[in-house]
Amino acid sequence: MNSLLENISAVCKRISHAAMRAKRNPEEVRLIAVTKTIGVERILEAADAGLRIFGENKVQEAQKKVMSEALSVMSGKIEWHLIGHLQRNKAKYAVPLFDLIHSVDSAAVAAEINRQAEKAGKVQDVLIEVKLSHEKAKHGISKDQLMVLLREAAGMKSLNLRGLMTVPPFSQDPEEARPYFRELRELRDKAAGFVLPELSMGMSNDFEVAIEEGATMVRIGSAIFGERK
Ligand SMILES: *Cc1c(COP(=O)(O)O)cnc(C)c1O
Repeated sequence: MNSLLENISAVCKRISHAAMRAKRNPEEVRLIAVTKTIGVERILEAADAGLRIFGENKVQEAQKKVMSEALSVMSGKIEWHLIGHLQRNKAKYAVPLFDLIHSVDSAAVAAEINRQAEKAGKVQDVLIEVKLSHEKAKHGISKDQLMVLLREAAGMKSLNLRGLMTVPPFSQDPEEARPYFRELRELRDKAAGFVLPELSMGMSNDFEVAIEEGATMVRIGSAIFGERK
């Protein structure tokens, strides 16, 4: 097995190369290290290696890590992002923990995050998760409902809408994800009147294609930490 350092360095190189192939500045692409199921010691090693943004898919699991003694030395130096589905009743725990919530997919969740953020005196950065595939299990707002949700969320004073996120259907072949990434970018470009600079798309097996299609955030777990059990 490769060491964490080797994995991180390989992923960073691949991100730069993909950006350069697409004639983009590699600094426009941020790496979110996905740490679901990964323990705090490994996360600390990754932070020591220079990674600064960590993504979790469950609020409770994130809470334990963010509050942990082991990671307290990194407090204020690293960012935490919620990349998994958020239930409305968990918004009150999510708001104090996360710098960016990638997974807003309904007006009800947006409104609850807004309410909790207002109470906490915070403006919460969020992305809207769009469901572009027809798989039943995936979360996200449908593309025909996107403009309605954007308009509603834009009126919420304690929400800061930063962009869009998507998870394409899993495939071994990264080229199969390309049309979904392209579609997300086109939806963003067509969202007249909204400034949505961030596109969160691309995971371990398809992040280079996502970068070629305009990703500004790639969410990478197994290519950094190894396969999850
Ligand atoms: C787990 C997860 C990832 C990372 O997946 P890898 O294939 O391990 O890179 C990215 N995004 C979301 C939403 C995830 O749940």
